[in-house]
Amino acid sequence: MIRYRCDGCGLDLERDGSNHYIVRIEAFAAAGKLEFTRQDVERDHSEEIRKLIADIEKRSPDEIEDQVYRSFRYDLCPACHRRYIAAPLNMGEK
Ligand SMILES: [Zn+2]
Repeated sequence: MIRYRCDGCGLDLERDGSNHYIVRIEAFAAAGKLEFTRQDVERDHSEEIRKLIADIEKRSPDEIEDQVYRSFRYDLCPACHRRYIAAPLNMGEK
């Protein structure tokens, strides 16, 4: 049997879900403009692609994936859920 603990404070969460909240977050890149002209299609892209590949080779797969899509799931008790809902974009000090 899976036991859940609150990701905020460590409190045991009841198996019946009576004090259990789930927060799911998805972060993904918005699609850019998808319009292109005939010139865009006919132009030579080989240099651009070569640079892109060289750039990708220097970075870790995790870093690249993080830029495209990340999802998170948090299990929270009622108190931590209240605190989360009050400030979901609390991103800490800048
Ligand atoms: Zn909690």
